[in-house]
Amino acid sequence: MVDTQKIWMNGNLIDHDDAKVHVLAHALHYGTSFFEGIRAYETKKGTAIFRLDEHIDRLFNSCKIYRTDVPYSKEEVKQAIIDTIKANNLKAGYIRPLIYRGYNVLGVNPVKCPVEVMIAVWPWGAYLGEEALRNGIKAQISSWRRLAPNTMPTMAKAGGNYLSSQLIKMEALENGYDEGIALDYSGNVSEGSGENLFAILDDVIYTPPIGSSALVGITRDTIIKIAKNLGYEIKEQVIPREFLYIADEVFLTGTAAEVTPVDTIDNIKIGKGKKTITHKIQDEYFKLVKGELIYDEKWLTYVK
Ligand code: PMP
Repeated sequence: MVDTQKIWMNGNLIDHDDAKVHVLAHALHYGTSFFEGIRAYETKKGTAIFRLDEHIDRLFNSCKIYRTDVPYSKEEVKQAIIDTIKANNLKAGYIRPLIYRGYNVLGVNPVKCPVEVMIAVWPWGAYLGEEALRNGIKAQISSWRRLAPNTMPTMAKAGGNYLSSQLIKMEALENGYDEGIALDYSGNVSEGSGENLFAILDDVIYTPPIGSSALVGITRDTIIKIAKNLGYEIKEQVIPREFLYIADEVFLTGTAAEVTPVDTIDNIKIGKGKKTITHKIQDEYFKLVKGELIYDEKWLTYVK
């Protein structure tokens, strides 16, 4: 069960047990939902949401790709998120806004189904565990590929896309790994089931380019800015699978996963097991989200 009391649903804050949808809702049958995963952290000036504007922009972009008009403005959704955090007395944790097609008629065409909005928040620690943040995870290259261009749009963070993520994650756990790393349609490195990927070789940081099969990660963007600020060269370029095996360090990034080092891939130790640059970037990331360091004032939205 999700540890939350009040859920914002179509304009009202209602009790957890009352937040229900009809079994004939379009989203349930056809995957018609668009969502965000956002984190709030405790800072010296109170609870702050990290990069809320960028998350809301991506949410509205996901809806636009699927010809979905959101019945609220960006400002209204942002305010609703703040109201939900307050209603639950959340100091730090995870925020899940979801826009979905509800019930009217059933059939592939969604346009007659109402566009509904919900927001839930709850306390949430490290997604892959505290130990993973320190010592890294065991990953495998998934047997499942990510989506090919012009099939399912990966620039949309849509519920249906996460069937791919579920296959990657379940396979990895079933095989005794913590996470799966998927290749793209052409066989190059794409991303984890819910994280973007970075690899380091000879002090240069590499990440696959955006625009094919991986989500346009907001943490990815933060990490690129951190890497530049720390003076590292960063290259957005195609990464072949075997590059990961010979890299000095590999790490995964995401709002949930934050900056998680990868210790082994397919049981091959990454580098000599040191995670020096990853930890440097991770330290900087935690300072930024907790307001101990500021690159851009607009990255923190305080819950007042
Ligand atoms: N890729 C996928 C498939 C994801 O689900 C996520 C998490 N939203 C990410 C990458 C990382 O994105 P972000 O840094 O914006 O959370």
